Amino acid sequence: MNVSLLDLKAQYAAIRDEIEPVLREVVESQYFILGPKVQECEKAIASYCRCERAVGVTSGTDALLVAMMAEGIGPGDEVITTPYTFFATAGSIARLGARPVFVDIDPVTFNINPALIEAKITSKTRAIMPVHLYGQMADMDPIMEIANRRGLVVIEDAAQAIGSEYKGRRAGSIGQYGCFSFFPSKNLGCFGDGGIVTTNDAARADKLSILRAHGSKPKYYHKIIGGNFRLDALQAAVVTVKLRHLDKWTAGRQANARRYDRLLEAAGLTKNGRVVLPKVVASRHIFNQYVIRVPRRDELQAFLKDKGVGTEVYYPVPMHLQECFAYLGHKPGAFPESEKAARETVALPIYPELTDEQAAYVVECIGAFGAQG
Ligand SMILES: *Cc1c(COP(=O)(O)O)cnc(C)c1O
Repeated sequence: MNVSLLDLKAQYAAIRDEIEPVLREVVESQYFILGPKVQECEKAIASYCRCERAVGVTSGTDALLVAMMAEGIGPGDEVITTPYTFFATAGSIARLGARPVFVDIDPVTFNINPALIEAKITSKTRAIMPVHLYGQMADMDPIMEIANRRGLVVIEDAAQAIGSEYKGRRAGSIGQYGCFSFFPSKNLGCFGDGGIVTTNDAARADKLSILRAHGSKPKYYHKIIGGNFRLDALQAAVVTVKLRHLDKWTAGRQANARRYDRLLEAAGLTKNGRVVLPKVVASRHIFNQYVIRVPRRDELQAFLKDKGVGTEVYYPVPMHLQECFAYLGHKPGAFPESEKAARETVALPIYPELTDEQAAYVVECIGAFGAQG
């Protein structure tokens, strides 16, 4: 049997009839950049994320970048974030000339540990950028309490977390900004690159809209320097159609997660900490990834590959140990929980179309690896 990590063709087959006419409509209109399709998408996403406004941009990376630009973050500033994330989080901070200041993670959720934040705040700190990793939100109450008390902005990196909830509140609706990605492998992916920033502040939304079009308002008059961060109409149209299916897909992912939990437990694989299951702490985990901890992770991954099971390691090298961030001066051991997670975790196929047989096969293979010694 073959089980790939993700099967986007299965998803497309189910929605082809809805998508194709909309794509044709955009092509016939020849209105490709911003315009009515983007506005429709922004309204739909704002409503889904329970936010006042949403501003479509070119990618999740640019969502982070433009949110920080809107706050004027740049050289001399510090932004607090997690080292255990996709590169874009820390990369965007550094690209603006600001300094990424890392705080280690909570080993249960893999998200930034709020108890360690305050010690890292200096007179240069401008923002906190928590990441809702794998589809589960960071512990936002203490993060917001610290930020509000210390006068910091909170920019949620919600690229993996559309529709996830913390105490009933949606990702992207708690901080000043929520940054989302429509990269194809995210839970709500488009047919290329795309992203969006949510906010509850009209002034901030207006500034984001100006920044994404080179800071131009009115056209050809530039009070501020922006860039080309515009979402295009084809991507927006895909997102709007797919959004109608998102809750059903999320339910599929959640059911697959419960199925894995049950099967791994029933196979005795969770005994003595051999396989540590992901723990749902937040009120709605959307399982962009189902990530387990295992000893001998690399060997297990190679074994599963031989058996036709696709897995991925998110992420093998934490940000503080990346070569490009050597100038920050961190040594191995600086963020032990992030380093441990980078050594021990592996993501299993969790996409909604995964069948019972496929899930059972994945668990059977993990069991066979264990039996080998
Ligand atoms: C995917 C991702 C991004 C970047 O999104 P792109 O659309 O690929 O630019 C940022 N942060 C996290 C945590 C991500 O997973």
